[in-house]
Amino acid sequence: MELRVTDTIKTRQMIAPGDCVAVALSGGKDSTALLLLLQRLLLLWEDVRLVAITIDEGILGYREETMHSAEQLTNRLGIEHHYLSFSGLFGHSLDTLLKGRESQACTICGILRKKALAVGARQAGGTKLATGHNLDDESQSVLMNVFRNDLPRLVRSSGADSSGKFITRIKPLSLISEKEIATYLILNDAWNELPECPYTHYAMRREVRSLLSGFEYKHPGTMLNLMKSREKIERCGKGSVISESLRSCRECGDPCSGDLCQVCLLRQTFG
Ligand code: SF4
Ligand code: ZN
Repeated sequence: MELRVTDTIKTRQMIAPGDCVAVALSGGKDSTALLLLLQRLLLLWEDVRLVAITIDEGILGYREETMHSAEQLTNRLGIEHHYLSFSGLFGHSLDTLLKGRESQACTICGILRKKALAVGARQAGGTKLATGHNLDDESQSVLMNVFRNDLPRLVRSSGADSSGKFITRIKPLSLISEKEIATYLILNDAWNELPECPYTHYAMRREVRSLLSGFEYKHPGTMLNLMKSREKIERCGKGSVISESLRSCRECGDPCSGDLCQVCLLRQTFG
């Protein structure tokens, strides 16, 4: 697995000398594996620094444990760790923001967390933001964007941003399956049973996940094929309407496809 991740990083030129890689560390399985792996790999690469960023969304009964697990890990590895919270950044916890609109939990959480991670990475001096998205997550996203007829997002979700305005997001585990990550954690004595987010059952991703797992079981290679299809669509769509260029948000200056970024649009509804 380490060799394959090294190959992904090198082939896609994810990390370069002089980089400070900010790892989005939720404390869950994927981000734990990512931090362990990067720390090991980066020992061999000179002049690359690693920091961890943890976001406390404010989800009662769930985040406390994962945050504790994240803290234990960085203490053990001796990695600089930065914490930010939705309350600090947006004035409210996710639990408060979701009152009466629980069905939109993952959409709202995802938009705000992306912003929070970018802020955290910038504050920590990060030049790259690494997330633990694995093959299962990425192939689910491909399918979900197709189901929603959102081809611009399908292309953007590769993390590539050539505008230079936004911190580059990298996904070193994007070709590694959930099962391989679980095995890696067990072999490295880092497996930790953690609670599930209480909002998971509202997520469309949950249904897509079970559908895709069934397909992968019956037709091995389905997930990888979805990833290859995304790459082809991305190549074919260059310069066309589906790869719309990013603009700057009128309110905060962050990159967006319309007049306002999704965070500023959401802020208008916070009250
Ligand atoms: Fe956020 Fe949804 Fe993940 Fe819960 S399951 S942490 S609400 S994205
Ligand atoms: Zn904005």
